[in-house]
Amino acid sequence: MKMTCRHCKANLAPEVVFENCTQSWVEQRWAYFICPKCSKAMHLEVKDEFVFVGFLDGGPSSAFIYERGYTVEGLKVFVDGNDLVLHLGNMERRLPRKER
Ligand SMILES: [Zn+2]
Repeated sequence: MKMTCRHCKANLAPEVVFENCTQSWVEQRWAYFICPKCSKAMHLEVKDEFVFVGFLDGGPSSAFIYERGYTVEGLKVFVDGNDLVLHLGNMERRLPRKER
């Protein structure tokens, strides 16, 4: 399973996507991703075994606009303190809460 960058259409393994996530909205389970190929941003909503790709619509209260969903077998998502933690195989990625 590969995920597709919404800007440059690069196909990226989930591990690569998660490694290029930099920060998170912990309560919403959203992650901020910078594409390693085109350096543009996407937003992800992550859950156990599933990732939605989309973007945040601005405005006073941000809404997540879904574009695609991917099943990511073995993905576990949980919150630890101020971090959103993604577990996949032997990879663990901690995404610090976005500063306001
Ligand atoms: Zn890209």
